Amino acid sequence: MSLLSIKNIDVHHGLLKAISDFSVEVDSGSMVAVIGANGAGKSTLMRAVAGVLPVTTGSIEIAGEDVTKLPAHARVHSGIALVPEGRRLFRSLSLEENLLTGAYRARPGPWNLDAVYDLFPWMPERRDQSSRLLSGGEQQAVAIGRALMSNPRVLLIDELSLGLAPIVVKQIYASLLEIVANGCAVLFVEQDVTQALAIADDALCLLEGRTVLAGTPAELNRHDVETAYFGTAAAAPGRQ
Ligand code: ATP
Repeated sequence: MSLLSIKNIDVHHGLLKAISDFSVEVDSGSMVAVIGANGAGKSTLMRAVAGVLPVTTGSIEIAGEDVTKLPAHARVHSGIALVPEGRRLFRSLSLEENLLTGAYRARPGPWNLDAVYDLFPWMPERRDQSSRLLSGGEQQAVAIGRALMSNPRVLLIDELSLGLAPIVVKQIYASLLEIVANGCAVLFVEQDVTQALAIADDALCLLEGRTVLAGTPAELNRHDVETAYFGTAAAAPGRQ
């Protein structure tokens, strides 16, 4: 059984159907990348899985538990954590205080302050620093740490590397490998297709809310991905 199982969901913004008939399975210890151009529906998808937006049809299950109707805070308890687009740290709080906000409603598990500080060794000596003094990459690491503090089974990351220096992206990807090694399932949005395909076990491409291509990085060739990404020609329907 997959840790995260999404079946045939639609998500609307008013009359606009932003996600159509979307399905994906993410196993424990694996990473699935969601790629697609601006406005393809990636953030809508992540927010719907986290419970911030309702789905109109379809189902979302965590390890067989149907969470489709649960509000966002209850989904945290079921094991879903979202690293939102733009990081959304509490600017008036310190680095450590931001991490601790993630422990509210935390599940039991391996992640606590010490474990996050082991993952990001630069953090402890800056624990009291205001989060507004952190660089974009540092903020992204804190946002990931904050999500881990809830001991998620499923980690959702929106716009993983947007605006970050390549060296920081490399560090954050390295941390993700450690996170999945702990048994997490990761569903992440990545604008950088090369990065996404380099690390993901599976990738799928959204175009106007529909999955137009899906497969392992080895199965996806560059031309098909570019075609699906930009919708420049009828892309082959992907496998689910
Ligand atoms: P980006 O990379 O620009 O963030 P995205 O792939 O994440 O794009 P979404 O932000 O999910 O795409 O947007 C999908 C569609 O839903 C777009 O047409 C967008 O205009 C629309 N949309 C997103 N949020 C809302 C909202 N709160 N109200 C109405 N329409 C919205």
